[in-house]
Amino acid sequence: MILELKKITKKFGEIQAINETSFCIKEGEIFALIGPNGAGKTTLFNIITGNYKPTSGEVFFQKQRINHLKPYEIVHLGIARTFQNIRLFSSMNVLENVMIGFNKQMKYSVLEAFFHFGRFCKVEKEFNRKAYSILEELGIADLANEKATSLSYGQQRKVEIARAMATNPKLLLLDEPAAGMNSSEGDELADLILKLRKDYKISILLIEHDMKFVNQLCDRVLVLDYGKTIFEGKLSDAVEHKEVIAAYLGDFDASS
Ligand code: ATP
Repeated sequence: MILELKKITKKFGEIQAINETSFCIKEGEIFALIGPNGAGKTTLFNIITGNYKPTSGEVFFQKQRINHLKPYEIVHLGIARTFQNIRLFSSMNVLENVMIGFNKQMKYSVLEAFFHFGRFCKVEKEFNRKAYSILEELGIADLANEKATSLSYGQQRKVEIARAMATNPKLLLLDEPAAGMNSSEGDELADLILKLRKDYKISILLIEHDMKFVNQLCDRVLVLDYGKTIFEGKLSDAVEHKEVIAAYLGDFDASS
């Protein structure tokens, strides 16, 4: 297991956003959280990344309990994420946005950085090379010098994924990666995510409303409704599940 959530509950005052949710993600698995708006998916992401502390329950990453750690400590352990609303630095180009992801690995003094000497130049060169290779993997190396926020929505999503990959994650959390994409852009992104899993040997947890995308990509899904797990397993079985159909899926056909 790479990630294990044990009986997670999260309350915001009177609102019970998550109600005793437990699940595990295996090494190399692509796992999706699905469910209607307000079901608690983003709250679970925020608990895994340390942005929220659970009201009760525990989170384990590679067998280490992490729910008391700070977000940057969790990034250091190997969990990276992207956001539902893309968060790129508007004053920076694509390459600089990706370089931000290497922050935790940059080892040189403030003086070396300020005067651009010693370890600074060597380390910067190396990370520059690595950033280019991640951008190449995602098919956007030719955009390295473009202002990140001037790119199309789909390209910006890829830059965010590239920045997350620069932190050298073992588990990548993607919050609605296909949102705003048309069907062929979604297909292309699904292929890219499968390639990332293979080439970087990572596990992936994603939130997604696009069921075609989930069906193409995910080994298993967890369906949440009002903070409670109503199904865990294969999407092809979820579509047969009465409670899931009533809460969320309607007439989605997993065979199409
Ligand atoms: P969506 O698909 O719309 O993003 P979601 O499944 O991600 O929805 P959450 O955003 O996790 O759902 O919200 C779950 C519940 O918790 C909702 O009722 C929401 O209003 C509430 N909630 C989430 N964050 C907070 C917060 N910081 N303060 C108060 N209530 C919150």
